[in-house]
Amino acid sequence: MADLLNVDEAIARIVGDIVQLETETVHLTDTLNRVLAEDIVSEIDLPPFDNSAMDGFAVRAVDLSGAGAESPVRLDVVMDIPAGYTPEGTLGAGQAARIMTGAPMPDGADAVIPVEDTDADFSDLDNSTVPEVVQLYKAVGTGAAVRKLGENIHAGQTILKAGTVIRAAQIGLLASLGQVDVPVVRQPRVSIVGSGDELVDIDAPLTPGTIRDSNSYALAALVAQDGGVPLRQPIAKDTPDAIRAMFKDALDASPDLIVSSAGVSVGAADYVRDILDEIGDIGFWRINLRPGKPLAYGSLEDVPFFGLPGNPVSAMVTYMVLVRPALLKLAGRSAEGSEVMAKVGEPMHSDGRRTFARVTLKKDGDDWVATTTGTQSSGAHLSMALADGLLVIPEGNAEIPVGTRLPVKLLRPIG
Ligand code: AMP
Ligand code: MG
Repeated sequence: MADLLNVDEAIARIVGDIVQLETETVHLTDTLNRVLAEDIVSEIDLPPFDNSAMDGFAVRAVDLSGAGAESPVRLDVVMDIPAGYTPEGTLGAGQAARIMTGAPMPDGADAVIPVEDTDADFSDLDNSTVPEVVQLYKAVGTGAAVRKLGENIHAGQTILKAGTVIRAAQIGLLASLGQVDVPVVRQPRVSIVGSGDELVDIDAPLTPGTIRDSNSYALAALVAQDGGVPLRQPIAKDTPDAIRAMFKDALDASPDLIVSSAGVSVGAADYVRDILDEIGDIGFWRINLRPGKPLAYGSLEDVPFFGLPGNPVSAMVTYMVLVRPALLKLAGRSAEGSEVMAKVGEPMHSDGRRTFARVTLKKDGDDWVATTTGTQSSGAHLSMALADGLLVIPEGNAEIPVGTRLPVKLLRPIG
């Protein structure tokens, strides 16, 4: 296998060529799944004021020492503090304030006792009169049920790092800081093209000798899943002019990356290679990877270009192994994706290339056990669609005995 390029070296070369895209500013409501371009530093303390964590009574903890079920302490209720209200005055010895969750603590108070530990009842909506006196059945320590100013976030704190993928929780956090405009990395635009006289679109009837184009749809979905904008083009015919036009259209869409499938091996109608040689700066790589050995990589008018193999499983696997790192680098995202170790549940074979086997995973005690999803032919879509993950057989292995522990890159969450 000496003539085959090592997978990690191929990834390193590709990623070395790619530069993160520029920053743009979008409204908070448009940031889901976008990538933060800058660290976010809070300008405020959160909470912005000491406030109650419970519905109950704000007290001076010292007044309650000795309180118990049999020996309640009685305090005069001198204030009522709903949420959103700013209390006036100071709580003195022997005094309490009725207070609601989120309402500011009054001066003088240092603890909150929940209504459940008193003789008061807040549940009667028709009678919300503040009692004059409250009986408290429990002693509390200083600070009990009080949320202190700045205890979650303090002004000047870096709360999100550049490169973070913005999900619901990050949106909530940014909203709490009043961050209306958010700096994000521009989404990579990816032209997706392909060619083949045998290929028809998904809504066309299958005539003898034809199959449907599935790669452009699967690749577009992968690009979208990774945060890119897929620009899918119709399949081109296997003629030099059609393929020239295909690449011209791909470039006209102002992409940051071009991904094609098929036509890069050595078949009689594989014009893609010749045209790429003519119009681009492309190398043809034979990678130590299964499925998906032949791959074209380089640039077309300075746009990074990947020519993936045509077989559907090969196209998807080479995307995941080689194109995804490039896309994530453009998008400013660090590589995510989870991996588990699994025991091989059936004998597996490899030809010595780094092999990505499509497997399902089942739990056996504390272990995951991996079994292949039927035929592993690189044309078999179903093997991919049924898979929980890709089991990685390292280079140089021919026979993998049952029980061997190997990493599995997950394709979906497993429970
Ligand atoms: P090629 O690289 O052109 O020799 O294609 C290899 C195999 O992949 C052939 O069986 C093609 O029919 C198949 N193939 C190529 N492009 C696609 C596509 N877009 N969708 C589904 N199968 C494809
Ligand atoms: Mg072809």
